[in-house]
Amino acid sequence: MQNYDLVVIGSGPAGEKGAAQAAYFSKRVALIEHGSVLGGACINTGTVPSKTLRESALYFSGLKQRGLYGIDYSLHEGLTVRDFMHHKDVVVELEREKIRQNLAAHRIDLIWGTGSFEDSHTVVVTTPEGKTLRVRGEIILVATGSRPHRPLEIPFDDKFIFDSDTILEMDRIPQSLAVVGGGVIGCEYASIFTALGVKVALVDGRDRLLPFLDSEISERLRERLACLGLQFFFQERLAKLERTADGTRMTLQSGKTLEMEAALFAAGRRGAVDGLPWAASPRSRIFSPQATSSAFRRWPQLRWSRGAWAFATLSASNISSAWRRCCPWASTQFPRSPL
Ligand SMILES: Cc1cc2nc3c(=O)[nH]c(=O)nc-3n(C[C@H](O)[C@H](O)[C@H](O)COP(=O)(O)OP(=O)(O)OC[C@H]3O[C@@H](n4cnc5c(N)ncnc54)[C@H](O)[C@@H]3O)c2cc1C
Repeated sequence: MQNYDLVVIGSGPAGEKGAAQAAYFSKRVALIEHGSVLGGACINTGTVPSKTLRESALYFSGLKQRGLYGIDYSLHEGLTVRDFMHHKDVVVELEREKIRQNLAAHRIDLIWGTGSFEDSHTVVVTTPEGKTLRVRGEIILVATGSRPHRPLEIPFDDKFIFDSDTILEMDRIPQSLAVVGGGVIGCEYASIFTALGVKVALVDGRDRLLPFLDSEISERLRERLACLGLQFFFQERLAKLERTADGTRMTLQSGKTLEMEAALFAAGRRGAVDGLPWAASPRSRIFSPQATSSAFRRWPQLRWSRGAWAFATLSASNISSAWRRCCPWASTQFPRSPL
């Protein structure tokens, strides 16, 4: 069994930066990743793809030029998914390569497989070929991130009814799209598809977009999106979402129905902690997501990075002191289902 100072589970931004930071300070580090690519949600399904698609949507829709010349240069009529996804694919591949180089430069052992705990120092890795191997870490950084919340009541088929991961695999640009969830992810995709000329309806149980924003900014955003044609259904809750012969039907608790070609359910994410039994005793080095709030109080230098306790934000002295005190790290987000 290989011994390491730090074993990191997950190669998203929290895992990559945490691993590199520790290796920079001469710690022996292994990083375990169970996907087929590096970068986690940030590079593959979240931040980078959605921001790149936003730029592509602005380009293809001619929205930027419209502002300047008042002319609609819209290309969306003949736009294929391949055209739309091309730039995103290029950027994502470049970012994955940067991570590969960063891990290699820091001499971090990359282990492909799914990590789970045998005890508070031993991680069992099940490789894609089904073999198991064990690694021991003085400290274990759980940076497994989150995945879209997929309630059982929603008949996801990833052809007509998508979550925010599978929407990236769509095989066509739909004529119309219903989006459930007016948080950052729902808003982002609703605005991207609206810019492309897709008829979009956004449903949210709250009374405004992105409630964490200043209300004037939130209202301004709603106004601008409404000008582009986005239809809002606030203070509405989803009662049922079903497939129909030519698309989807959404029934709201108010009794309204929305018939759209496709639907995106973007209401919350779940911590990716399956197979990671938490040992949350006071002396343990592995803490449950709930226990992280007390870690936050004890360790104010830790920053909440959209679901990740980012090891990367620790300074050198913090790291060595964290080392001594066996600070817990965990990564999770909580679902916010409108059902
Ligand atoms: C559509 C969308 C848009 C977003 N936009 C933004 C934005 O604009 N700005 C922003 O700051 N954030 C944004 N985010 C959030 C951001 O992507 C996440 O906060 C960030 O990726 C979290 O990083 P992480 O390293 O904690 O986890 P992740 O990036 O989720 O990485 C976790 C990794 O762990 C791996 N893993 C999981 N379980 C195991 C296991 N048992 N064994 C081995 N490996 C495992 C996974 O395969 C994955 O590679 C967005 C998210 C989405 C979905």
